[in-house]
Amino acid sequence: MLGTFSEGIQEHGITESVSNNEIISLVPNPFVFQCKNCRVIVGDSFQWVTNNEKLNLITLQALTEIVEVSAILMISKSLEDPGSAFYVLSCKSCKTVLGRKYITTLCKLDSLRGLYSLDASSIESYQLGTSLQDGERPSLENLPTLSSLHLQQLKMEQVILSFNERITDLEEDLAMLEDLAF
Ligand SMILES: [Zn+2]
Repeated sequence: MLGTFSEGIQEHGITESVSNNEIISLVPNPFVFQCKNCRVIVGDSFQWVTNNEKLNLITLQALTEIVEVSAILMISKSLEDPGSAFYVLSCKSCKTVLGRKYITTLCKLDSLRGLYSLDASSIESYQLGTSLQDGERPSLENLPTLSSLHLQQLKMEQVILSFNERITDLEEDLAMLEDLAF
């Protein structure tokens, strides 16, 4: 699909600011997130929304069915999210507490509301394609840091901006061609 898009651009003689290979290298391999205690898979980076450094949370749009959402609404007394209401997320397999689903928050935590926030200290992760070697099992030690996930977000934004620029250029070219035709 990238190739077809790129060929379309080249047909119109538009200089590419980012090559397809560069785009592929900018898109990180996906991560799988696991319960740190029993290693069941609780989510993946396709669902990733944001990180919160202060609360040490990785926030995802959805989790696997192995994660249980508590029935009791809790109110936080922590200085980082005082008064916020949340449900506790835990691993159905081993009962480890994994994080929170915020229902109400302070304004500064709006981006977490209604989503599933995993405590980075309660999970392990594995990045697909990074640790497989002949005769070895995948390493589970390489939990992505919050800053590395933030870096990935910035790279993805760069890719999206690049595509946006290309589309804008194509639209301008098309408008010019239509003007010439009439
Ligand atoms: Zn578990």
